[in-house]
This record gives sequence, C-alpha cells and structure tokens, in this order.
Amino acid sequence: MSEILKNVRSALDAAEKLNPELNAFLSIDRESAEESAEQAADGSGPLNGVPVAVKDNICTKGSRTSCGSRILGDYRPQYDATAVSRLKKAGAVIIGKTNMDEFAMGSSNENSAFGTVKNPWDTSRVPGGSSGGSAAAVASGIVRAALGSETGGSVRQPASFCGVVGLKPTYGRISRYGLVAFASSLDQIGVFGRSSADVADVLGAIAGRDEYDSTTADVAVPDYRASLSSGVGGLRIGVPRALFGEGLDGEVRESVEKAIDGLESLGAEIVDIDLPHARYAIAVYYIIATAEASSNLARFDGVRYGFRAEGAHELREMYFKTREEGFGAEVKRRIMLGTYVLSSGYYDAYYAKAQKVRTLLKRDFLEAFEQCDVIATPTSPSTAFRIGEKSDDPIAMYLSDIYTASANLVGIPGISVPCGISGEGLPIGLQLLGPYWSEDRLLASASCFETSFPLTGRPNVHAES
Ligand code: GLN
Repeated sequence: MSEILKNVRSALDAAEKLNPELNAFLSIDRESAEESAEQAADGSGPLNGVPVAVKDNICTKGSRTSCGSRILGDYRPQYDATAVSRLKKAGAVIIGKTNMDEFAMGSSNENSAFGTVKNPWDTSRVPGGSSGGSAAAVASGIVRAALGSETGGSVRQPASFCGVVGLKPTYGRISRYGLVAFASSLDQIGVFGRSSADVADVLGAIAGRDEYDSTTADVAVPDYRASLSSGVGGLRIGVPRALFGEGLDGEVRESVEKAIDGLESLGAEIVDIDLPHARYAIAVYYIIATAEASSNLARFDGVRYGFRAEGAHELREMYFKTREEGFGAEVKRRIMLGTYVLSSGYYDAYYAKAQKVRTLLKRDFLEAFEQCDVIATPTSPSTAFRIGEKSDDPIAMYLSDIYTASANLVGIPGISVPCGISGEGLPIGLQLLGPYWSEDRLLASASCFETSFPLTGRPNVHAES
C-alpha cells in the first residue's frame, strides 16, 4: 500500500472514530478519498496526498453540501467550488465535509441543524463558529488543514477556541465561486492549519484570480511557503490599547499582552494605534451581514434546491411552509432583521448609515497602517464557552465577534495563532491583521511566533491518543 493511501486511511479512520464524540463531520467520504489517494500516488502537486476537510457550505461535485441546514435537503452540487478544484489539482485528498452553523451564521456551532460540534479540548464546550467542524477536525489531528469560510470571524474565532492557526484572506484573494453566499461583500473562504506552514501551503494552492468570480483580484500569488521564514525583525506592530478593556476576559488579555511582548523580544517594534470606529464594528456588521443575507437566502424557496415542504395547496403556501420548516431560528432571525434594515423608512437609518460607518472604519485601518505593518489584538474576548451558555442570548453571542468583524468589513486579511492556554486548559488566540494582500507577512509573523512560543498542551480528544 502506498504511503499516501496509508495516510489517507488513517485520517479516515480517525474521522470515523472521533466523529461520534466531536460531530465535526457531516459526511465522511471514504470511497472517493481512497480513490483520490490512489491517483495521488503518481502525482506531484504541492499538496500531493494530503488529507484535508472542507466546510459544508463549499460545493463539492456529487457530494452532499448542506450548509448545516435542513433547507438544502440532499443537495448535491453539479460542480466543485474553485477552491475545491484547485485543492484537488494540487493533489489534496478531501476526506469529508465539516459541520457548521446553519448558513455560517453563528459563533458556536450551536446553530447547526445537525447538532453542535464539540471542542476537542473540552467536549462540554463549543468549538467556536461558524467553521467549528473544520477547526475541530484540525485540532483533533484528523487532518492537517481544512477549509472554512469567513463573514465576520468564522475561521479566526474557532481557530482561537480550538488552538489552531486560522487565516482569513484579503477580500478577492480566494474565489467565492461555489461558496454558498451568506453576505457577499464580506464572505471569503479561509484556511485552518496545525501550523502557519500548513496554511501557507493550502493558501498558495487555492488563491488567485478566477474567471468564475469577478470579485477575485488579478494580484500575483506569492510563494507563501518561501516567505514564512522572514521573521518579525523591524516589523512595526500596532496595538489598539483602547480595545483591550471592557468585555475582555482577564486571562485572555494577559496572554495576548505577553504574546505582544514576545514578538517585541523577537525584534518587532510595538506602537500604540487608535481605531476610533472599531467599537461600532458589531453594530455595522450585524446590519450589513443580515441585509445581504436576507437577499441571498431568498433563493431557498423549495423550487430550486433541496427540501420542499409537503402538503401546500398553492405556490405561496409552499414557499412559506418550506422556509418555515427548512430554516432554523437564527437564520429566520437574521432574514427578518435584514429585511427590516433594508425596508423603506428604515434603510437610511440603518443600512445606509452602516455603510457610512463601514467607510470610516476602513479609513481608521488605512491610517493605522501608515504607522504600523501589522495590528495585534485578541482574536476573541474569551476562551471557548460552555455549550448552551450563550445560546439564548443572541447579543452576547454577537459580541464574541468584536475583534474579528472589522477585517471583513474592511476587506483586509487576518490570522489567529495560538498564544497560550488558560487556567482551565483552554487555548487562547492572538490575532494579527495586515493591509490588503499582506497574507505573506501575516503568515511569516505567525510562523515566527509559533516556532518561538509553541503551545504546550494538547486537546483531550485527539487522533493519536
Ligand atoms: N459569528 C459571526 C456571525 O454569526 C460570523 C460568522 C461568519 O464569519 N460566517 O455572523
């Protein structure tokens, strides 16, 4: 048996063994993974034979793509997302599709129609969301890397909760073709890895202009792996101290401050910066994201995709019943919110206003990047919370995106890298944000940090234990 097939089988075995406990995968595709592994035996792509997992809102030809929702039923796309076809071309072997908050709406995975994902460090806790399944699959050692998606932090926040590296690229860096739309001006596919090097390899394989997505940019894709060793010598790291106050857990704060000191000891220069509009990011995000979602999700009507409710007597009733039965509570809440902020009479007060503040926020970041090369913050204000702890309080849940949402609103890249373990044994994430197209710089900084200050400790649920 080839080495590749052996590796792929052991990833499949681990996924099957751990899934009853973690619920990280919605489907595990042994047959097609083994077939691809056999083909990869003669391949030479940069990811040749590497087992990876893909979030279930990214289309995979012929295999179920549910978005964590009942409304898509047994939808099987007729095409691969560009990110998926590029992964395959690079030789990667997709072993399965990962669980997620319904339509990527959530910060805990509790909104999945198929049950919550458990955090491998402590199964009574959430893995973060919405790409919690991908984060858990990487953290538990099932795969080295996985794709997720980001609208407001859904790769970085679960990466932080699960102690892995998570990157959200510049808007337009990775094609959205085949990514089921949530909020199109914010959505990007993102990458999880056990290390920055894993993320660099996957990003390099999938990034770049795609004729199927006109919002991808014609910006050259650098060799991310080659720039990984550039270090942080002379790098100016901006710290927005005003954001380190209210709502931030004490231990997270301490750990992130220590990490910033650590970067300084590695040769970086620390500068104070101000992002005066960052405190509006959550309000702006939840107006713009819900507005766009209410429009994007109009297509799920029982006619075009998947599920259709039974027993309707006429068309409108069929639409109502299908959407009533097919969508979960959070998705309905957001469709209603989004419809409200776009409605005549409220449009100017909410949607138009939010767009204006979005521009101010963008200006804040452009000005900050005149004084620094990278911005450092916590990824999330807390460590992984308990399952059920915030599920009845949408506002508390929304606030967990406070550090991540800005990058999506502005379109800049961000990375979360593990920077410590809390007293309760839970990982803490450091977030680094950079100017447009600075993924290479972010990866190099994260790599320098993780090799100098590796995380001590390992998840309780792990493929190798
Ligand atoms: N937690 C945020 C939300 O619920 C972000 C989701 C995302 O990035 N997909 O919308």
